[in-house]
Amino acid sequence: MKRIIGVDIDAVLTDEGRGRENIWYKNLCAYFNLDGRITNAYDFRDAYGLTTEEVETFIGERGLEIFKTVPPRPKCKEVLTRLKSKGYQIILVTARPEENNQVTLEWLNKHQIPFDKLYHSDEKITICKAEGIELFIDDNPEHLIPMMEVLNIPVFLMNMDHNQDHKLTFNRVNNWTDIEAEILKYFE
Ligand SMILES: [Mg+2]
Repeated sequence: MKRIIGVDIDAVLTDEGRGRENIWYKNLCAYFNLDGRITNAYDFRDAYGLTTEEVETFIGERGLEIFKTVPPRPKCKEVLTRLKSKGYQIILVTARPEENNQVTLEWLNKHQIPFDKLYHSDEKITICKAEGIELFIDDNPEHLIPMMEVLNIPVFLMNMDHNQDHKLTFNRVNNWTDIEAEILKYFE
């Protein structure tokens, strides 16, 4: 094994917060004057009863500021730094649009999060195949399902409010201490 790991950014590297303290929850409720979310769906449209256009307008107006100010999860820098020093390759794969590349790179640099490559892609399985990624961590079950079913690689779902109701069972992780333990268990 070459020790190549795939890591999502939002809700995996970023610390969005839980419940009413979630950064997206707070901003969406304030922007649209909502009392809360309707469902625990991942997609903002289903979760908050919004149209595609409303979500796009919101992301256009508030997205950049959220991407800039969201803090990193505790210990993600330390764990990734340790893994890199052991020779692991860290491939970041985000579904954020390519136009957010600059703000994403600046955020990674500001928080000194080590990585080897950064891809913007909605088709994360394609990147996994191209890069030979052997294990993936994401908070969106829909990205992980094809990796499990087609590539048969170990995947870990970051436990979040927005993935609690998913019908499939996943190996869940809650923080970077969990992630480091799972990675070391698999590779070492
Ligand atoms: Mg994510």
